[in-house]
Amino acid sequence: MNILVINAGSSSLKYQLYDMKTETAIATGRVERIGMDSSILTHEVAHQPEVREVSEILDHTTAVKKVLDMLTHRKFGVLRNISDIQAVGHRVVHGGESFSESVLVDAKVKLEIRRLFDLAPLHNPAHMMGIAAVEENLPHVPQAVVFDTAFHQSMPPTSYLYAIPTVLYRKHKIRRYGFHGTSHDYVSQRAAEYLGKPLEQLKLITCHIGNGASCTAILHGKSFDTSMGMTPLEGLMMGTRSGDLDPAVVPYTINKEELTLNEVNSMLNKHSGLIAISGVSSDMREIVEAMNDGNDNAKLAFDMYTYRIRKYIGAYIAAMDGADAIIFTAGVGENSDVLRKAVCERLTFFGVQLDEAKNAIRSPEPRKITTDDSAVSVLVVPTNEELLIARDTYRLVLTKLVGQGVETEG
Ligand code: ADP
Repeated sequence: MNILVINAGSSSLKYQLYDMKTETAIATGRVERIGMDSSILTHEVAHQPEVREVSEILDHTTAVKKVLDMLTHRKFGVLRNISDIQAVGHRVVHGGESFSESVLVDAKVKLEIRRLFDLAPLHNPAHMMGIAAVEENLPHVPQAVVFDTAFHQSMPPTSYLYAIPTVLYRKHKIRRYGFHGTSHDYVSQRAAEYLGKPLEQLKLITCHIGNGASCTAILHGKSFDTSMGMTPLEGLMMGTRSGDLDPAVVPYTINKEELTLNEVNSMLNKHSGLIAISGVSSDMREIVEAMNDGNDNAKLAFDMYTYRIRKYIGAYIAAMDGADAIIFTAGVGENSDVLRKAVCERLTFFGVQLDEAKNAIRSPEPRKITTDDSAVSVLVVPTNEELLIARDTYRLVLTKLVGQGVETEG
């Protein structure tokens, strides 16, 4: 079965085509600048040069059409016909309290995602455009949605409630939802496989450190607490997001700087974090480079960033009364040995013994970076959210087909 995985943004659409027999992505690509002039489609197939096509793509329906044309292109394509795509899986950022697992798309599901627009005004409307675009281009192909928040729906109220009047939760569902759930879920499963232990017996702390960053306490396979909140702004310091801060800073800043709420919101999401403290960049590679060149602000940004990751790890060890392993993933977590070292070398109280030689190794495979006698293992596990979306879509479609008595193969 071939499954097309789609991550639709407001002006972009990323895709991966998975062959589920081998669980490999046979083609990947993205459309950028949808709705602007000179839209760009970039398409890649293993062992072949990247293809770039510039054209006018005014909406998501045209974007999906262009992707399908490329996938079936005589020279650059990988499929003979678009009927070789048996299902489509979409990443959806916010599933609110309505979705604790992935589901097949139907009218009720679409209505529910629309109801959640208020909670994710930048993301969910774009995902809906992606779903509608697939419906128009592939009207008979089943679609599934995989939510960033779903994995965290297992959190107990002690973790997800804010200590504010409960009427706000009851009326408006103001609470912690958490994000990056697909990634935390995927790497925790991979970590359990690597450790050779059932996930249900493990206490894990997963650190997804990319442009956005979050830590999750995973108790016996279920999300127990996570650092992002009602929105992705809470928790760790990030590339351009502030992470945790005293909420009183917001009205105080509005008064002092005569800013609007929207301006402060934009400041906290787009102009804070690494970029604000370093004045250099939101990209960890450039921070480390500037720090090595003696830039004190870059060093301060790096120290604050790593200190906060360590604080969350400490908090989650306390929350779960222990931890078997700490897992680093995503762009920074997978690639920056300097960051992992800075976080881990001050966790010795918990029995973490970093092996510097192992920490310096680069590999696309899961690996341990602590010594054999370290009480807590630290692992680097490359994430693969698209594969998990493809797997969930495959499982849901297969279950439906079997329910209908249709015979299936791979
Ligand atoms: P996103 O949250 O956008 O999915 P990623 O997980 O792809 O982000 O992470 C992107 C970030 O990874 C970049 O902003 C960059 O700072 C960081 N990164 C990539 N490679 C390295 C590296 N070798 N060292 C440090 N940071 C890196």
